[in-house]
Amino acid sequence: MFESLSDRLSGIFDKLTGRGALSEADVDAAMREIRRALLEADVALPVVRQFIEEVRREAVGATVVKSVTPGQMVVKIVHDELVKMLGETAEPISLAAAAPVPIMMVGLQGSGKTTTSAKIARRLQNREKKRVLMASLDTQRPAAQEQLRVLGEENGIETLKIVPGQNPRQIAERAMTAARLGGFDVVILDTAGRLSIDEALMTEIADIKKTTNPHEILLVADSLTGQDAVATAKAFDERMNVTGIVLTRVDGDGRGGAALSMRATTGKPIKLIGVGEKADALEEFHPRRIADRILG
Ligand code: GDP
Repeated sequence: MFESLSDRLSGIFDKLTGRGALSEADVDAAMREIRRALLEADVALPVVRQFIEEVRREAVGATVVKSVTPGQMVVKIVHDELVKMLGETAEPISLAAAAPVPIMMVGLQGSGKTTTSAKIARRLQNREKKRVLMASLDTQRPAAQEQLRVLGEENGIETLKIVPGQNPRQIAERAMTAARLGGFDVVILDTAGRLSIDEALMTEIADIKKTTNPHEILLVADSLTGQDAVATAKAFDERMNVTGIVLTRVDGDGRGGAALSMRATTGKPIKLIGVGEKADALEEFHPRRIADRILG
């Protein structure tokens, strides 16, 4: 049966009751277990190494206080370090800019960008009472603009009128003007995705960024694609300087490894997580909960 990382760590240390400080050999045994568990959770190798170094520094020589077992203490050190690496606190979407606040969504095709655009719009509208306009700038996929329009209709969110023949920059300009004239608080710009990152996509998105000066650039990444998602995030961030990440399909990622890799590799906050296909299946990212999930 699958044994959780917490159980495995407790197993190593609970043999050594009655000692004052954790020795290097004990800690080494624990590090091997942590390494294995993180790799099993598909955490990127450089991130695993960095994490283990941090934990080792904390753990070697740490004095075991009387009220806990050595195992419990190491589990706590690992948990605290995971939380630290995941970013400590939930960081919400910032709307601290002049209305209409542009939020640009970027990511690969199929990552969940369009669904997430509607989820965010719905959340801002229902919880924060903001008036939100959504616009699809995806002129690549014929059905993309229609998909967003339908999602808007289903969820009571206004979408920019579809005008055939416009290029993404023209649509973006029209969205900003419509939002200004219509008194909207927020404009969500759903950009086109591709199957992989290519130069044409990056140029297109950079152009839209220049035109709209987005307050948030949110990278949408599929947590189930693991290391590929991390490489994608890195590439997008290097070119676009994203302000945050939305991890999707976290409902199917039982181990939470993608969140750790993503955060550690880009240094950018994970702001929200997608936990299902429905429009309300979006949650704030809580580092503690993901750390619990990784520890099992
Ligand atoms: P896009 O190409 O990036 O715009 O991706 P879509 O928004 O069209 O999403 C692709 C598929 O992923 C759709 O079937 C969505 O319902 C599904 N999806 C998006 N986010 C989530 C999520 O958080 N969990 C699950 N289970 N499915 C999701």
